[in-house]
Amino acid sequence: MLIVMHHTATEAQIDRVLKAVEAMGLQAEPIPGSLRTAIGVLGNQGYVDDTTIRNLPGVRETIHVSKPYKLVSRDFHPESTAVQVGSAVFGAGHPPVIIAGPCSIETEEQMLEGARIVKQAGAGMLRGGAFKPRTGPHSFQGLGVEGLKLLRAAGDASGLPVVTEVMRIEQLPAICEHADMLQVGARNMQNFDLLKEVGKTGFPVLLKRGMSATLEEFLAAAEYIVAEGNSRVVLCERGIRTFEKATRNTLDLSVVPLIKQMSHLPIIVDPSHATGKRSLVPIMSKAALVAGADGLMVEVHPDPAKALCDGAQSLTGEDFTRLMAELEKLKAVL
Ligand code: PEP
Ligand code: MN
Repeated sequence: MLIVMHHTATEAQIDRVLKAVEAMGLQAEPIPGSLRTAIGVLGNQGYVDDTTIRNLPGVRETIHVSKPYKLVSRDFHPESTAVQVGSAVFGAGHPPVIIAGPCSIETEEQMLEGARIVKQAGAGMLRGGAFKPRTGPHSFQGLGVEGLKLLRAAGDASGLPVVTEVMRIEQLPAICEHADMLQVGARNMQNFDLLKEVGKTGFPVLLKRGMSATLEEFLAAAEYIVAEGNSRVVLCERGIRTFEKATRNTLDLSVVPLIKQMSHLPIIVDPSHATGKRSLVPIMSKAALVAGADGLMVEVHPDPAKALCDGAQSLTGEDFTRLMAELEKLKAVL
């Protein structure tokens, strides 16, 4: 970190800053300039909390050199991390894992049929929400623990590992009993207490990017999980909120190669929530793989017209089967 002093800062003020830095167990190196003095901070292992320094008299600004994430960064861990969830392996050069299934778990028949369709088409994991973060309180909120049981049964019947969303810490014991991977949704990306508890479980985590989160905030959220000793984190770009209303969100595909430069964690893409439109899902799925994604998460429903949630963006079994065949051809080219 670099501390820049005001040009009017007195010797006493500079001295106070030097002492404050040393009190933090760090080394302070004054860099006098013709106009103002800057102070270099050395010896930190990662991001420095500058709250006390920033408010000292005479300080103009602090400039961070280290990022608020370290454990997830490639600087710290140059090799790509592979995250294994049962038979599915994300990242580190493994073939892309396609997670598919309905937005929400509705009935036993819907889950068994949904799982059968996606397994037959070649998906590597099954998804389904039992606890649903809905924009309005009157929308279907999910089946809760009943839904978890249906998801587990469909996973077992199809032989696919399952992922489902956790919204609250109290849901963790039940979800850990039934799921193979925990999903933290866009709306909870900065629920720091939840991130810590999810990290403590040691379960693989699918962390979705918040709809207004910067890349730095996304990686800092992942850092919360990894800081608990759990590096089994798969990132998921699912579109961000912009001024554009023609699509549900704006798919920020450029973060895929960028995250691969910045972090060792796998990154997948959810073209369903990103676009909100069934017709756009196949082409954006392909674009995501071209951009280097380690996998996809696609909403598929046996009968999207009857879906209780996100039917308009859900593929039919037929659509998904066609997409998977196209992805196979694309993978061969890639
Ligand atoms: C989901 O995947 O079910 C979901 C709610 O997505 P997001 O958190 O990205 O909105
Ligand atoms: Mn959905």
